[in-house]
Amino acid sequence: MTEPFDILIRGATALTSDPAQPMIEDAVIGIRGDRLVMVGRALDADGVEVRRVIDARGHLATPGFVNIHTHAVLSLARGMTEDMGWAPAYTPGVPHVYDISEDEAVALGRLSALEAMLFGSTIINDMYVHAHATLPAIAELGLRISSSAWIHDVDFTQVHNKVWQYDRKIGEDRLRYGIDLHARFNGAFDGRASVMFAPHAIDTCSADFLRDVNTERRRFGVRVMTHLAQSYMEVEQVKERDGMTPTELVEEVGLLDDGLIAAHCLVMTESDIARAGAAGITVAHAPKVNLTGGYLPVTSKLRRAGANIALATDNMHGDMVENMRWALASGRLQERAVNDFWGAPDVFHMATLGAAKGLGRAHDLGSLTVGKKADVVLFDARRAHLTPAFNPIGTLVHTGHGRDVATVIVDGRVVVENGRATLVDEERIRTEGRAAARQLWTRVTGQPPVGPARWQAAS
Ligand SMILES: [Zn+2]
Repeated sequence: MTEPFDILIRGATALTSDPAQPMIEDAVIGIRGDRLVMVGRALDADGVEVRRVIDARGHLATPGFVNIHTHAVLSLARGMTEDMGWAPAYTPGVPHVYDISEDEAVALGRLSALEAMLFGSTIINDMYVHAHATLPAIAELGLRISSSAWIHDVDFTQVHNKVWQYDRKIGEDRLRYGIDLHARFNGAFDGRASVMFAPHAIDTCSADFLRDVNTERRRFGVRVMTHLAQSYMEVEQVKERDGMTPTELVEEVGLLDDGLIAAHCLVMTESDIARAGAAGITVAHAPKVNLTGGYLPVTSKLRRAGANIALATDNMHGDMVENMRWALASGRLQERAVNDFWGAPDVFHMATLGAAKGLGRAHDLGSLTVGKKADVVLFDARRAHLTPAFNPIGTLVHTGHGRDVATVIVDGRVVVENGRATLVDEERIRTEGRAAARQLWTRVTGQPPVGPARWQAAS
């Protein structure tokens, strides 16, 4: 006799992201331990012994979203820096990496990770300072966490003043920190944690430092996350410094291949796009952040050239459903048409299996497929804005929200139920996150956080 299932989810419409059976109505999803052991139709579960049944009629079941690029600590800047500049690290007058204490990073990182989890991400690929402290704090939520240290050899205290000074000692220290992080946490938390290397960006890392990172990533067999071609300023700086575009430099130092996850890829020449595509890099595409920052992505060209596009929320918010919508809209803006190249299934793939591929995890994450990790999300579709759901994937992408998530299962464990986290105190996380943000802004700017001056009420 076979062992009973730990969980059987019944009655949902499953959007599996598995090309073999993309949609299953009245689905059954069986979980034993940390694995999916059944993804099929109602009759398949007849006679199966089950420890717990989840009645999911009226729900959509999806794989957990794979959020391929976040800076969880940057919840500190929510609603503020989006209107001050295009990225907090380059914006004067806001808290920067070197301002943030370990305790503040934990409080803020946990807040963003909680948000991402409540909205259906089951793994975030996070890069920021204090990763040794934020990684375990995020894992405690029950979330899967791919983490990387914020490594660079620039003196970051001057970057927001447009001064790039490189220091070999800084580079050695940061790289050693990344290697230590890998030694401590790669595979930790029952395998829910993993560690890669993240040279911050091509303007904040010298060519020699990028070569060192390439040596180490090959030694450890890990992927590399970086920001690439994310602004005109970066491209100008690297051209002046090295006489080539950031993409050309990444290729020159040996990093441009299918082990590279490059955030944004916005300011690229035709030749850069062709190189990135031919190398099969994964583009961590954060369309909401890009468009809010005034950049129209080049994801259509990158896709056609062969790059893997994976979705990310990046800074300040964690809703992957909303990001699917922005990705679709920005794709169509590039196409200047509604055509078959950008549809709801394409962006859903980018948020699930495509992103898992980018992390090197397509074998065990990213789709509802028997044998993969049991990371499952249930959206409550019994809501006015999701009715009628004649085409469930179109309805989810065009009118869904992260806040429609009712249940999140990670590694076979229910970590969100009825829209609430099961393992942690949400109210405490929210209160501590808010307090940390307030304390940080006040210490750095000399006053409580207020946002751009012209928006303040006239006195
Ligand atoms: Zn980023």
